[in-house]
Order: sequence, then C-alpha cells, then structure tokens
Amino acid sequence: MLLESYAATDTGPVREHNEDSWGADVDAGLFVVADGMGGHAAGEVASRLAVETVTEIMLEEEDPDETRLLLAVDDPADRIRERLRYAMNQSSVRIRKAVESNPGQAGMGTTLVVLLVEGSEAHLAHVGDSRIYLFRDGQLQRLTRDHTVVQQEVDAGRLTPELARTVPHKNILTKSVGYHGPVDPDATTRGVQHGDVFVLCSDGLTDPLPDSDIQTLCAEKHPEDLAQALVDAALVGGTEDNVTVVVVVVSED
Ligand code: CA
Repeated sequence: MLLESYAATDTGPVREHNEDSWGADVDAGLFVVADGMGGHAAGEVASRLAVETVTEIMLEEEDPDETRLLLAVDDPADRIRERLRYAMNQSSVRIRKAVESNPGQAGMGTTLVVLLVEGSEAHLAHVGDSRIYLFRDGQLQRLTRDHTVVQQEVDAGRLTPELARTVPHKNILTKSVGYHGPVDPDATTRGVQHGDVFVLCSDGLTDPLPDSDIQTLCAEKHPEDLAQALVDAALVGGTEDNVTVVVVVVSED
C-alpha cells in the first residue's frame, strides 16, 4: 500500500504552550500523536519523549529485552502489537526517569496513539483519550475507546454519549503514559484497503467537534487539506486546548 500523510497542530487561543506532539514516518508506516499533561511546560516534554521513544523503538532492530519478551510470540501481527505495547511502556519508563532527574516535572504524563501500517494491515495501540478514526466508504468509525472515567460511565450505561460530551470531568483519564507507571495499552490489528483515511487526533479536536462534524469534513475535504481543515474547525468550534491532527491516506501501489 502507498501512504500519504498530512499533519496540522495549533496551540489554540488560551494555552501558552503546545503540549501535543506528533510524528509521521511514511516510509515506515508509523504515525503517532501524544497529548502531554503537567505544569511548567512538562507536558511538552512528556509528549515529545513518548513520540521519540515509540519512533526509535519501532524503527530500530529489536533490543535484547524485546527479543526476550517476544520469545513465545509466533504470530507476526501479535509480535507487532507486543512491540507497540513494549514501546509505549518504555515511553513511560523514560518519562519517569526524566522526572527523577528533574523533580520540577513531577506528575507529567501523556496520552499516546500509534498507527503502524504494514502491507495490508494496520496495527493500532493507544493509551488515554487521544483517538484514531477510520473514514471508509463515506463513514467515520472511531477505532479507539477513550481511557476516561466518562467512557467507563457510558459503557456501564450510566451516561449517554451525548451527555458525556458535556460533563465537567470528561477529561479525567483512567490510563496515561508516565504518571501512572507501567501502562497497559489497548492494541488491535485490522485490514486496510485502498481509499482508507485514518485520522489521529488529540482531544483538542474532539472536545468541540462531534464525530458527525468530523465525518462531514472527511467527506468534503481533499485529504491534503483535511488535517488543517479539522484543526481550523476545532478553533472555530471554540476549543481552548491544543489541537493536533495527523491524516494518513492509504492507496494501492
Ligand atoms: Ca489536550
């Protein structure tokens, strides 16, 4: 499959820093978005460390720890998902190490979503409330389930998805990279096909925009303009947060 990628990010009208980070390596098929948290610009450090760590580990040969970890894993897709989970855990380790040498950054952490497209398969892994969507055949599908208190309440039937968008505690995470220690990312594998458009984003996009608005823009915009159009729509929609979008377009060789 051939991949193209477009990204856009904006600090937004309120925050002093952009604590989101992103990475895109089209040749490797690796795409990452991280939304950092922590005072005094520590969120920036955490999200950047996470993107760097995942990129480094996934692009390099397996290290001895990984090889040991993967010894009993035969299925190629299982191996990739285990590597993604390992890379995300190493991000957590590096963030906590950074805090040890700079206690002013205590409490910093980040969300992390990773998409790895290899051949005809997409491997996804995530922690937190950054998301990956798939736009296919005119329909938008959310491929990740937020690790938030509110999502748990929706799953338990105590809150409707519509109401969940409005409650004040909607951004409280049940999982994050760094602050919470070892992480247990969700990881899945699915097939890709010609014309698929993946959208990776931070919650600065999805707080102001319902999925229906994101779907409309995916349908209307040329993929080349989509990332910037989504960020612009979030800003017009009144986001107070940093906004980051990475768009990945799949086509046949
Ligand atoms: Ca955010």
